[in-house]
Amino acid sequence: MISIKKQIIQNEPVLVFPGDELGVIEEFQPGPYTYEEEGIIRSAVLGIPRFSNKDYTIEVLPRTSTAPVPRKGDIVIGQVGHTGSQIATINIFYINGIEVFPTYTSIIHISQVSKGYISNMEDAYKSGDIVRARVVNGKTIPIQIETLDSNQGVIFSRCSRCGDVLVKLGKDKLKCNSCQRTEKRKTAIDYGRAGKDIKYF
Ligand SMILES: [Zn+2]
Repeated sequence: MISIKKQIIQNEPVLVFPGDELGVIEEFQPGPYTYEEEGIIRSAVLGIPRFSNKDYTIEVLPRTSTAPVPRKGDIVIGQVGHTGSQIATINIFYINGIEVFPTYTSIIHISQVSKGYISNMEDAYKSGDIVRARVVNGKTIPIQIETLDSNQGVIFSRCSRCGDVLVKLGKDKLKCNSCQRTEKRKTAIDYGRAGKDIKYF
């Protein structure tokens, strides 16, 4: 269960089943769709666990039975997986505001990241970033997405050195208040204020 716990704390989309262990009561508060049994917090439903580092609550979002399918023009939210110099993969877990599981794998080409010039994908997106994007083509595998608009791009990101949450310093510039490191990203205009889109940020 250690790997699941790590994934939960990093808010990676993983599926849990009723009875699965999410954590222990010394570390977390049980939230909606969880229960506590002899000090262990377990999932009450089939769904996706969410951890809040504000109040250390773990909840489970029940899996919806009518999951949407991504189509051209849809606004999606996903987490960056691998990045190469020209291409990044992003695992989509929200489509038009509805959470989906399993995630859809999408790909973005460097020319579709920003209206400005970006020489290396690592200057725009890093593994683990949460990104808002638009579907260009939902029929290909993987799906193709873009983030050219100002309200598209990274909405949540962590410091590559210490893991703390990065705050916005300026356009496409983020800063870690713990270790003072600055990092580049292609940020959405509402970076750091996108909590309305995603329940657990
Ligand atoms: Zn840092």
